[in-house]
Amino acid sequence: MSPAQASFIQPGEPADLAAELADRFAQLTGHRPAAVAAAPGRVNLIGEHLDYNGGRCLPIALPHATYAALGRRPDRTLTLTSRQMTGPIEIPLDDLRPGSVQGWGAYVAGVVWALGQEGWSVPGLDVVVDSRVPIGSGLSSSAALECAVAVALAAALDVPDSGEVRRRLAESCVRAEAEMAGAPTGGMDQAVALFGQAGHALLLDFADGSARQLTWSPCDEDLALLVVDTRVSHTLTDGGYAARRTDCESAARVLGVATLREARGRVDALEQLSEPRLRRRTRHVLAEMDRVDAAVHALERADHAALGPLLDASHDSLRDDFDVSCPELDLVVETCRRRGALGARMTGAGFGGSAIALLPADDLEDAALAVGTAFEEQGWRQPGFLRSPASGGARRLR
Ligand code: ADP
Ligand code: MG
Repeated sequence: MSPAQASFIQPGEPADLAAELADRFAQLTGHRPAAVAAAPGRVNLIGEHLDYNGGRCLPIALPHATYAALGRRPDRTLTLTSRQMTGPIEIPLDDLRPGSVQGWGAYVAGVVWALGQEGWSVPGLDVVVDSRVPIGSGLSSSAALECAVAVALAAALDVPDSGEVRRRLAESCVRAEAEMAGAPTGGMDQAVALFGQAGHALLLDFADGSARQLTWSPCDEDLALLVVDTRVSHTLTDGGYAARRTDCESAARVLGVATLREARGRVDALEQLSEPRLRRRTRHVLAEMDRVDAAVHALERADHAALGPLLDASHDSLRDDFDVSCPELDLVVETCRRRGALGARMTGAGFGGSAIALLPADDLEDAALAVGTAFEEQGWRQPGFLRSPASGGARRLR
């Protein structure tokens, strides 16, 4: 039997979710939170696996966010509770160091630790979180968690909100994830969680650290972006991601450049790589950089439809050259293409996770239904679906 309706994951109303979380915080701790903040998950429109290669990417913030409530404690302890995990976890504040916290607590404790390294004097804290971002789905629940905690902590400590402060928060969240949680990421997730803007994609350039907002408004052309969470869990710590980074670094070494970005425009770059795997990895990176250029050009002309073929080519390259797709992602992409998508591709690091499809807005529900049916025919668990207008970045809500 086919599913009668695709199940869309709702982002919820931020003010309501923040109020609910503040009440839950009070029930759990006996006091009201000093601050409640939210930070969004994200999808990357294009530019995959380019952050650590000195390239550019183009993420948007989702309406789905992680919410963090926090308040001071009189002792030197962190207590962490998540609606999505078992807990609470108690961590002595003065023992924080890389390796000292395992599991999800490392993401939160990591933010506290990294800000401590920046010179912030962080007191004992109660932290309670809740999230509408699917976890482990390539939609960056990890950065949403870190950034929600970071913004709530800055607010609780009366640190004024500014671009400069946010840049430091972003760096600290990257350090938290890399050094405390053991997942080295390139910084895209935290940047868009903190700097995303409604109606915009964030063009991030990892060669010089610059960022630019580009209008992203597919609804002007009666288009919409469907996000499909395959619910095949990916993990960034199981070696596949690290292996891709190592491949890219090896290729850069052979070519005598610091990052593959610097090999752009070198006609002989691929020929110089005799190892077929490194050649394929590099072919993806260099072609994806060209696709990002074309996508930027398309958005500057407000020609959203022009993105379609670029999404398709990006997926094929991630599947065939970078080897980070999987049957579930491929099925989503193929099904959406058959159902009228202008383009579709996996998004995020891959090995499971999520895919996006740019569709005529009227076809979005049908495409989701078709994907659900295709999964059912395979005997796979139903995927999750998200509608994803570009939303705003992290903010204090209470
Ligand atoms: P993604 O960022 O794509 O969702 P990651 O593997 O990078 O996947 O991060 C997922 C991890 O982040 C979870 O395994 C958990 O440790 C942590 N995490 C994310 N959201 C929450 C949450 N709401 N509560 C507790 N931990 C969370
Ligand atoms: Mg993550």
